[in-house]
Amino acid sequence: MKRYQTLKWLNGIAAGIVPDATAGAASAAADDRLQKSLAEWATLLPLPAYRVLFEEDTERAGTSTLNQEKSDGTFICAACFQPLFDSSTKYESGTGWPSFWQPLAGTVATRTDFKLIYPRTEYHCRRCGGHQGHVFNDGPKPTGKRYCNNGVALRFVPRAEQLPELRT
Ligand SMILES: [Zn+2]
Repeated sequence: MKRYQTLKWLNGIAAGIVPDATAGAASAAADDRLQKSLAEWATLLPLPAYRVLFEEDTERAGTSTLNQEKSDGTFICAACFQPLFDSSTKYESGTGWPSFWQPLAGTVATRTDFKLIYPRTEYHCRRCGGHQGHVFNDGPKPTGKRYCNNGVALRFVPRAEQLPELRT
């Protein structure tokens, strides 16, 4: 009996049927970070988006149609679809990149990069790690921050439309 149950359990694992309770608890206990390989992202994303999101490329200023986007809605990560910015925090910075004074709470993480001679604060989608842009201290009130975002790393969803399901 015991041996039979063990075999059944092993077969379940082999078939990819892990007991639900265990699997659910494990993923919820950790965080919801995506663990996709770069190769997977490369097949899911157009090349310019992939280069910005996962190779920290910067799009040419003034090239994104999102610069002119002034409608009510949500800007989501172009890779994993996590909502990152609300349109109410977007403003015209004159830089040629979509700019925001605040991300949605808990959605981005930062680190210092030295790609240019001076240190800059890079920020990325906390969920998938995709690079979004850099944050500077010359933004408008109330935060004084300027989140300078690559348009190709974002997707705009008008308020009337349903947000897409998060990529898994
Ligand atoms: Zn993301």
